Amino acid sequence: MIDIEILEKSDVEITLILRGVPLEYVNAIRRAAIEEVPTMAIDYVVFYDNTSALSDEIISHRLAMIPLKSELALERYKHPEECRDGALTDGCYTSLYLEAESGPQEELVVYSRDIKPQDDPDIVPVNGEIPILKLGPQQRVVLEAWARLGRGKEHIKWSPATISVLTYIPKVIISADRCTMCGLCAEYCPTKAITIRAGEIVVDESKCTLCRQCVKVCGSEAIDLSWRKDEYKLRIESSGALSPERIVSEAMLQIRKKLVELREQLDKVFSTKGVST
Ligand code: SF4
Ligand code: SF4
Repeated sequence: MIDIEILEKSDVEITLILRGVPLEYVNAIRRAAIEEVPTMAIDYVVFYDNTSALSDEIISHRLAMIPLKSELALERYKHPEECRDGALTDGCYTSLYLEAESGPQEELVVYSRDIKPQDDPDIVPVNGEIPILKLGPQQRVVLEAWARLGRGKEHIKWSPATISVLTYIPKVIISADRCTMCGLCAEYCPTKAITIRAGEIVVDESKCTLCRQCVKVCGSEAIDLSWRKDEYKLRIESSGALSPERIVSEAMLQIRKKLVELREQLDKVFSTKGVST
């Protein structure tokens, strides 16, 4: 039976315990969170003026790496596969504008909050405090940037997950018959998952990282270290483009979409070969 527990949750991070779910499924969700879930990112920049010390290419790259709010974009813009030809195709792109100029005696830091949406007020940087470049006295930058939906597998700038990790849930069993209470396992355990209190060995499996130090130092072979079957911890941290729970649910949708496409292709092959299913 499948059981899902939310271990931790914040605006940018979620940790789930998935029970009764095979490793392959959880790993597919982990990978899809990084590679398959679409978000908006700047992909095309037109410079009208740039007298800063940085080249157009460096500024473009920095702009591209600024996460953009994408919750509404997933319903509003065409899928990445329809927008890859480099042309500013209808329904793919939204435009943002940046204009900054420093005075004769001043230096000016240009931040992500200076990027203004031109036609979609919902597509803006997730954080206004990201520095983009510093203008020296009397320097100027004016540009128009075009953002579109893309996927992390095309370029990491489109990945909504900054962290997506799967970990096993440890199982530490100490045999009372074999244990001599030498205390070495507690001494060498780097996370204090094993401690000795009032002459008793206490194990906190949630702290265990499966490093096997305890097993190596135990001369009595008293420790059985393994992990729980079909029980995994999935931790996803968002760039802010999508909520962490949306990333998990979109990852599953993307996997389902791929399987449906695969099934359709398979059906076509079977029907051309006269194979009935
Ligand atoms: S190292 Fe082995 S024998 Fe020593 S306390 Fe730990 S489990 Fe017991
Ligand atoms: S595997 Fe490592 S972290 Fe886990 S109990 Fe043993 S020493 Fe501690």
